[in-house]
Amino acid sequence: MGCRERAAKSELLRIVVESRDGGQAVLTPDPGGSAAGRGAYLHRRIACFELAVRRRAFPRALRLGVGVETTAIRDHVIQQVTPAVHNPLDT
Ligand SMILES: [Zn+2]
Repeated sequence: MGCRERAAKSELLRIVVESRDGGQAVLTPDPGGSAAGRGAYLHRRIACFELAVRRRAFPRALRLGVGVETTAIRDHVIQQVTPAVHNPLDT
C-alpha cells in the first residue's frame, strides 16, 4: 500500500480497522499481526504513510468510507521511524 514497493513482511506494519460508537472507522496499528479482521500492510515509513493517505489507499484497501481516522497509524509510524533516522553526531 502507498508506494507499491515490495518489501519483506518484517518491514511492513499491519493495520486493522476498529469501529467506534457511531460508526466511525479508526485505523489501528497491529504490530504483532494477530488482530482479527481485514488488514492492510504499509511500510514503516512516514513517506509511505503520507502517500497512502494522499491516494486514499486506506479506505480503498479496507473498503471503508472516506472519513477514516488515521492518527494512530501516523503516531505509530513516527515513533518507529524516529530512532532510526536519529543522527548521534547531531546531539
Ligand atoms: Zn512504501
